[in-house]
Amino acid sequence: MGAGSVDWVRDDPVRDAVRDAVVIGAGVSGIYQIKRLTDLGFDAQLLEADEDLGGTWYRNRYPGCRFDSESYTYGYSFSQELLDEWHWTERFSGQPENLRYLNYVADKFDLRKHMRFNARVSELTWDESERCWHVTLESGETMATRFVVASLGPLSIPTAPRYEGIADFAGESFHTYHWPKEPVELEGRRVGVVGTGATGIQVIGAIADTVGELKVFQRRPNWSAPLNNGPITAEEMDDIRSRFDEIFAACDSSPGGFEHVPLRDFWEHTAEERRAIWDDLYEKPGFGIAFGNFAEIFMDERANEEVSAYIADRIRGRVNDPVVAEKLIPKDHGFATQRPPLETDYFEAYNRPNVELVDISEAPIERITETGIQTADAHYDLDLIVYATGFDAITGGYDRITITGVDGRALSEKWKDGPTTFMGVLTNGFPNLLMLAGPQSVGGSTNFPRAIQTGADWIAELLDHARRNDVQRIETSQAAEEGWVDEVVKVHEQLLLRRSKGWFTGYNSNVEGHGEGNIRYPAYFGGAPRYARKISELAEAGYPGISLT
Ligand code: NAP
Repeated sequence: MGAGSVDWVRDDPVRDAVRDAVVIGAGVSGIYQIKRLTDLGFDAQLLEADEDLGGTWYRNRYPGCRFDSESYTYGYSFSQELLDEWHWTERFSGQPENLRYLNYVADKFDLRKHMRFNARVSELTWDESERCWHVTLESGETMATRFVVASLGPLSIPTAPRYEGIADFAGESFHTYHWPKEPVELEGRRVGVVGTGATGIQVIGAIADTVGELKVFQRRPNWSAPLNNGPITAEEMDDIRSRFDEIFAACDSSPGGFEHVPLRDFWEHTAEERRAIWDDLYEKPGFGIAFGNFAEIFMDERANEEVSAYIADRIRGRVNDPVVAEKLIPKDHGFATQRPPLETDYFEAYNRPNVELVDISEAPIERITETGIQTADAHYDLDLIVYATGFDAITGGYDRITITGVDGRALSEKWKDGPTTFMGVLTNGFPNLLMLAGPQSVGGSTNFPRAIQTGADWIAELLDHARRNDVQRIETSQAAEEGWVDEVVKVHEQLLLRRSKGWFTGYNSNVEGHGEGNIRYPAYFGGAPRYARKISELAEAGYPGISLT
């Protein structure tokens, strides 16, 4: 327990072994959370399953992997010194630089001493009499902690397709999340990429000109617009540094948490004016074309149809073969009603003679063979298969731990039809389990680091408040949870994304119960400012809806 604090526990050897907090996961959110808690003097430890820190940026090493948030809006904002020191070299920085940044932060603030690696948590069991969680690691080791902060990452459980014969393939194959650390031979090889989400689109654009042959196995196309990346010079970085307050203020006031702020009054402009605005946004870096577009495109069917038709025309203008271009244009959902991938040289890749789009909505994959992929109408010989097939998003990390709460209730059972939480940070029946970027928060739906800083600060303040008031048990009420779920559903139903089949709506055909017709409401789409306002009002009002005992 930190200096000057009230003891949680009396003199009792069993209770003395209870630490204040365990943080699970050393990604972007866990790194910041452990800093906040240890700065406050809590006896907190971070447990990480991998052999080093970095989370998503430690794992995803595939070619083309980079931010789609402006680098300088992705970095942490808590330290002026850090903001002054770090130079982002690209507007949308690549994975190696992102991982270097996270290591730099951990070393600068001496955070590694609070982290344990190769420590995969397999069970969390609530102990009502001791008011603590028993944490079991995969190794069998156990420990006790008053609070658990789960910073498991919204996209940390990769999902492979369930095709017959995957293990029979004699060449190399892996999910993009498991792209090897060692260099992968690409030159001259026959490569198949399955999946055309944000990840597939990055890989395809990056490797098309290196590999011998590239077969892209596409089930559904995704709307995608140019990233328009570029270097950041020393002078530009100085300018960015002088505007950090302004930049973070813009992020805080924008629903997506980006510096792009939505436009209003779609219908007050003429079609020509809108087109001129889109021409400009399409050429500009980043998410401006989505989150700096008219707010109506997310809600109003006709507005969305018009912008979708515009983006479709841009795709037609970039792909030489009109048949291929049509296949690359989504027909089942509108632009930005799923999280739109941003691309570099993606559409141009299909103009190369060595790249072929294989439409598996017409001729589905039947099985993986020893030598490649068999579809309903052809066999594709391959040396390497890359599965860019997405994640068991947002709740996947929770489902991989056996979490047992009050009266022996399993969290996986409670959430089998979809998560239910209070503001994405607590769930009834699981006291003292705090979720950072948890289900039904804005962690998954907005510029991630901006959202998690709000969440981690809020959790740190709640635990500090608990310590000052000798509170040992924190639990949300069922009624508060139901109220928040109503808000999540209400916002979700107002947006066109309600019809999408993306991870935003909990859709994943590779996970039992997450497929067709099973909407799970995993994220809150009320926007970053609305969420930040609600969660800070909650703290200011003394945490109504949360019992502190
Ligand atoms: P994703 O968006 O879920 O895309 C998965 C792709 O795999 C989809 O095209 C999907 O097709 C396809 N697929 C899945 N199962 C399949 C199967 N059994 N057979 C054939 N195709 C299959 O996953 P992701 O691309 O990894 O992206 C997930 C999220 O990660 C993004 O939305 C984004 O938030 C984040 N991300 C960010 C960046 C960045 O720029 N910072 C980069 C990559 C990822 P269907 O559409 O038909 O299901």
